Amino acid sequence: MMDINRICEGKKSIALGTHIRPDGDAFGSSLGLYSYLKKTFPEARIDLYMIDPNPLFSFLPGFDELKTEPSDEAYDLFIALDMGDKERLGKAKVLLENALETACIDHHLGYKGIAPEANSYVVEDASSTAELVYDLIGADAVDDDIAICIYTGIVCDTGVFQYSNTTQKTMEKAGYLLTFGFDHSRVISKAFYEKNYRQTLLLGRSLLESILLMDGRVIVSVITQRTLRFYNATSKDLEGIVSQMKHTKGVDVAIFMHETVTGEYKVSLRSNENIDVEVIARKLGGGGHERAAGLTMTGSSYDVINNVTAEVEKQYKEKEAEESVQ
Ligand code: AMP
Ligand code: MN
Ligand code: MN
Repeated sequence: MMDINRICEGKKSIALGTHIRPDGDAFGSSLGLYSYLKKTFPEARIDLYMIDPNPLFSFLPGFDELKTEPSDEAYDLFIALDMGDKERLGKAKVLLENALETACIDHHLGYKGIAPEANSYVVEDASSTAELVYDLIGADAVDDDIAICIYTGIVCDTGVFQYSNTTQKTMEKAGYLLTFGFDHSRVISKAFYEKNYRQTLLLGRSLLESILLMDGRVIVSVITQRTLRFYNATSKDLEGIVSQMKHTKGVDVAIFMHETVTGEYKVSLRSNENIDVEVIARKLGGGGHERAAGLTMTGSSYDVINNVTAEVEKQYKEKEAEESVQ
């Protein structure tokens, strides 16, 4: 396992960064490590960069200290969390490129080697990057602030301990985190379920306008820029819609897309054991995990749907062929 203390020892300036459109694990893992580094290396300057942070996570300690505008300063060390492809840093990429040394903590498939091997802790089947931060710093280093951050990261990336990435160890660690006494019901409610009315309307609209394809095995929904403008909403208001679509009985794959700028779509994919969406996302320039992945594509919404569903169809055909051989 990577030795986080050895890597940070003696560094005067350390920057942390995570992926664009940061989710609960991006927040939880990076704010958890940020708290740990500040107390462990008080003589170093530690900065956590996050582009356009979602105020939903403002209940987490350290949120008010986030830096949102990367400088061209050369930090002694840059640590990337919850991503292994420097393009996903967005405009924070410059920090990684200018840093004298880099490190990476991640659980996505297809690690792009953005840090030397000794500075990389990439465990593809880990529930969350937050759980990896727990392992790296060790249970004894956890305090009140770190506990709530790591718990939030685990809750978000496991769908409140529902997804298949949840292990006995994940639950044991979460159980230990609860001993710090924070309001865990509130964390789950805030980070995972709570919506403002605008978000509720957008969820409703997405479900109402969704279509079923491939004999009901695929569900698709699209939110355009026009709709976002109508509700005075942004992409941050669309969290959780794809998982809700995925709950539809008989569905193997949920495809939710929203228009980011004219003619460009951010696509979120969720699946069950029948389809590997990471393979699909990677093929189309994105990535993620077997059952949760994402990508960005240009073209009309129909082009995007055709491209993605063609890949889903390919997997069904491959599976059928395999089964007929057996
Ligand atoms: P999302 O649908 O954006 O919630 O993403 C689902 C999972 O896929 C998350 O773990 C993301 O970090 C990951 N992901 C989303 N988009 C990309 C991308 N373009 N490249 C690599 N991983 C991605
Ligand atoms: Mn993430
Ligand atoms: Mn994650």
